[in-house]
Amino acid sequence: MLKTVANFDRIGEENAFAVLARANALVAQGRDIISLGIGQPDFRTPEFIVEAAIKALRDGHHGYTAANGILPLREAVAADLHKRYGVEVSPESVMIMPGGKPTMFMSILMFGEPGAEIMYPDPGFPIYRSMIEYTGATPVPVPIREENGFAFSAEETLRLITPKTRLIIVNSPANPTGGVTGKAEVDRLVAGLEKWPDVAIMSDEIYDHMVYDGEKHVCLLSYPSIRDRLILLNGWSKTYAMTGWRLGYAVFPGKLYDYARKLAVNLHSCVNASAQFAGLAALTGPQDEVWKMIAEFDKRRIVVVAGLNKLPGVSCVVPKGAFYAFPNIKGTGWKAKELANTLLNETGVVTIGGPDFGILGEGYLRLSYANSTENILKALDRMGEFLASRKAA
Ligand code: PLP
Repeated sequence: MLKTVANFDRIGEENAFAVLARANALVAQGRDIISLGIGQPDFRTPEFIVEAAIKALRDGHHGYTAANGILPLREAVAADLHKRYGVEVSPESVMIMPGGKPTMFMSILMFGEPGAEIMYPDPGFPIYRSMIEYTGATPVPVPIREENGFAFSAEETLRLITPKTRLIIVNSPANPTGGVTGKAEVDRLVAGLEKWPDVAIMSDEIYDHMVYDGEKHVCLLSYPSIRDRLILLNGWSKTYAMTGWRLGYAVFPGKLYDYARKLAVNLHSCVNASAQFAGLAALTGPQDEVWKMIAEFDKRRIVVVAGLNKLPGVSCVVPKGAFYAFPNIKGTGWKAKELANTLLNETGVVTIGGPDFGILGEGYLRLSYANSTENILKALDRMGEFLASRKAA
């Protein structure tokens, strides 16, 4: 027997990837599959961004870059955050990352150890809990409730803080629920956190462009009282339809920046140079394609929610952000994962069971509406027929 480190037996997964592999296998067998599973835009990366990467390669950007990323890109991130949120960010605190995930990975590594508590949203992105468990810290779920429109509750979050709490993870707009937390609630959270100066916050704002119904995204960098312990996670994956490029960024405060830079040197050296040039073009070039894509998501959001609310036993609150709907399926009598599996096997519609995002996800499905309206309507028809004709197992 190999003697491996026990932490690895506790590491989790993101089931959306397993479901994607199963769906692809079914497609290879000739099945007619509609994917509302994986969370990635169904749009291509805008052409001028692709061209910038090709140009970077042609211009000879073939070598390592600085571990924290090329300076023009860090400057562009700082300028973008200033333009969009009016916040002052030094390029020296911006770190270019190979995607959004490595920021959560590094942040949780910095604070997680046995005896420490880390709070995270439930239902929430599954990697938070996975990494907390990996470090041996105690995962403390913060309930995200349908009755709050899946916004997080400041009061509930603050109530769960103990002297052992090291890090609180917040996510708005949220995966898997599409919930958006408004300014008044964020104000309350930040005010409460002033009493806990030793607690760090990681704000996952990867969906920050995708807010609807006149909501405004609240960037946590706008709160000076927590800036010295706030980690911002963001990136290009969702906004610029660049999930496969592996390009993200973080803003790390104080000594955490150097920890992250050293982790990068130890782990990946630097982010792919041509991808960094693509990221620079994305931030400094025209934004029309981003807004076109988001307008399209907004239209589909209305279609998917209206359709879900017509299904027997299903109700769906209107998600205010990201590109997910999180319908309540308790009235169908099905357990969520069984329903997701059976829907895939019998109707070819890919969804993700809520429990893949935490215990409180039972009774819900996640549907990504990053698919054409035509396919969404077809999927809803198939789900409707299925639910009308099949009783829960
Ligand atoms: N954070 C959230 C909430 C996400 O939903 C995702 C991707 O699905 C990520 C982070 C990771 O993004 P990336 O693909 O850039 O690593």
